[in-house]
Amino acid sequence: MKKLKNKSYMEKRRKKAWAKTLKRKDKQKAALKKSIDSKNKLNEAISQRMNQFSRLPDKCNLCSKGFDRTNREMINSWKVVVQGTDVSLYCPPCEKIVDFKIAEAKAETTPVDGEEDGQ
Ligand SMILES: [Zn+2]
Repeated sequence: MKKLKNKSYMEKRRKKAWAKTLKRKDKQKAALKKSIDSKNKLNEAISQRMNQFSRLPDKCNLCSKGFDRTNREMINSWKVVVQGTDVSLYCPPCEKIVDFKIAEAKAETTPVDGEEDGQ
């Protein structure tokens, strides 16, 4: 009788330990799922970027100079402007013009103190 009691006690302990193991495995599974999720998100971001890349125009927006998507130097030196779904591309000389125009537009819209009092 005593032996039997002991056996059932051992059984209980084993079940408890097994439950703990299961819990730990669940946690591992959750962690794995989390890492897969973040990986998927990363892949999504990459594919989104690739999408943007494939939408790149094949010429400069300003002077219509041809853009070679396979030319690493061009990719690094040309200016890409993304506005919503629109992707604009500017060659280095035009980039300077665009930058200047943007700066000019900014200067125009920036209110200058005392401007309205002049007249
Ligand atoms: Zn250009």
